[in-house]
Amino acid sequence: MPDRHLTRAVSVGAVVIGGGSPIAVQSMTNTDTRDPAATLAQIARLAEAGCEIVRVAIPHADALPGFQVICEASPLPVVADIHFDHRLAIEAARRGAAKLRINPGNIGSLDRVDAAIEAAGEAGIAVRIGVNAGSLAEEYRDKDWPLAEKLVASAVAFCEHVSARGFEEIVVSAKASSVNATIDAYRLLSTRVPYPLHIGVTEAGTMLSGTVKSSVGLGVLLAEGIGDTLRVSLTADPVEEVHVGWEILAALDIRRRGPELVSCPTCGRCEVDLVPIAQEVERRLRTMTTPVKVAVMGCVVNGPGEARDADVGVASGKGVGLIFRRGEVVRKVAEAEIVDALFEEIAAFEAEASGPAGS
Ligand code: SF4
Repeated sequence: MPDRHLTRAVSVGAVVIGGGSPIAVQSMTNTDTRDPAATLAQIARLAEAGCEIVRVAIPHADALPGFQVICEASPLPVVADIHFDHRLAIEAARRGAAKLRINPGNIGSLDRVDAAIEAAGEAGIAVRIGVNAGSLAEEYRDKDWPLAEKLVASAVAFCEHVSARGFEEIVVSAKASSVNATIDAYRLLSTRVPYPLHIGVTEAGTMLSGTVKSSVGLGVLLAEGIGDTLRVSLTADPVEEVHVGWEILAALDIRRRGPELVSCPTCGRCEVDLVPIAQEVERRLRTMTTPVKVAVMGCVVNGPGEARDADVGVASGKGVGLIFRRGEVVRKVAEAEIVDALFEEIAAFEAEASGPAGS
């Protein structure tokens, strides 16, 4: 894989974006910001899933008191998502936002952008200039250019405007719902600005289509060394966005959080009902953070090889599972006991890996 594009380092709370820092996984709450308890409960779930930065919408001024409570209690840095009204950005900066996300395409005049940037500067926080195909600034919307070029021209113009005023704590995004336009835009953007890039395919879709679009779009960019933080956009529970984000990073061997699951697709040779077994294993693994590799395999063709290669694995036979730990068969269990047996062996593997008690 090529080296990562080197960008400026920008701090968002305790998280550093860019400058070679680990690629941070983000998501956005979909609760009502006026309800801090519900929003904080969702942030806690996001944090547990591995979210590192969370964005919260501030649609109206009546969301600001709740936003302040959220910022005070959140375990994650909170980004204020602002559209249309720069006064919301100013207030959010004063009330504890770790970063502002503003959309220059709809914030109005440059004076208003400047006011928001000034508030960010006073608060010592970063600003994401978030250009989006669905809300491009008017002067670019009607240009007869490819979409990617319009997105980048708009983002670069705002970056230059902000930079000229001495503000450099900038993160940039240029998202489209088209995977190709997104890839083209970020490739171009990475050659035009020194700032860290927040990458994502916007409005990517539901769990399946959104995961595929995000994986393809972000996968191509990340494989080219482009991107400093990512958000997967799904019409689903935002916790799923975090899981998918981590899976993308893990698939490219960029970052891994927690276990890796290898499971076979099943075929006519499969001698157990493997799909629910693999799904249950995946569900339980999601709560773990140790980097254990687990294989769930349906028969003896590839089963023993993969199970032996994993830290813990099962190679299934007719109604039974041969359970492996560290490459050795440790037991044979009935189909109904496969999942529990795997997790008992995972616990044993973790205990071995952490060494004798007190060491
Ligand atoms: S491991 Fe066996 S059951 Fe699974 S796909 Fe391969 S041949 Fe089929």
